[in-house]
Amino acid sequence: MTIGSPEGPPPPWQEIHRAVLSTLDALASSTGWIPTAATVGIEPLFERVLQQVCEPHGVTPGAYIDLITKDTGMRREVQKRLSKLMEHPGLVAMRREAQRREAEHQLYVLRYVISGEEPPDWVWTSIDEAQQAQLRDAAESGEERDPVLTPRVQHALRKLAEAPSTYGECEDCGTTILLERLQIVPWAECCAACQRKREGTPDVPPEPQVPVTYF
Ligand SMILES: [Zn+2]
Repeated sequence: MTIGSPEGPPPPWQEIHRAVLSTLDALASSTGWIPTAATVGIEPLFERVLQQVCEPHGVTPGAYIDLITKDTGMRREVQKRLSKLMEHPGLVAMRREAQRREAEHQLYVLRYVISGEEPPDWVWTSIDEAQQAQLRDAAESGEERDPVLTPRVQHALRKLAEAPSTYGECEDCGTTILLERLQIVPWAECCAACQRKREGTPDVPPEPQVPVTYF
């Protein structure tokens, strides 16, 4: 850890720490950072704040991180502010919008392959030529036609177009479907638990049949 040079006074850590906190507070009450955070995440933003605050004091962001890693109180103060930024409604909304756009893209491509219906221009132009040719072959060969999956994909696309805020919500219990599930099954209508119920699969494995002998 670099706490100043042997000759000079130690860096004013309390002052640096307060400046970090107030810069993070200022961010939380503004919105200009949100588009960047929605694409690259919160870490680069935090690094920039540290650089801004630390540099004028001649200390490195790494030395500050070392310090707060060893000080639970300071660390919590920083973490609390970072969580607040991550939970910012503007950021959450923008992330969700990006996820929907990605799901929509995936669904249009899938629909093309399984039904032959061409995707809209914004989807088609975002795909490189080699992949376009591959998709065209698959769609025109008709080998992947899937009359069961197609209506489910159509249903998800209709939801995205007509009531985007309901996309990703379980149609049975209303909870938010896990992002991991939506990435694999972008046409999912319900959460994994409700899906198992719909399919009649028990939610938890049945209790093993052990004879009770103690009572
Ligand atoms: Zn559910």
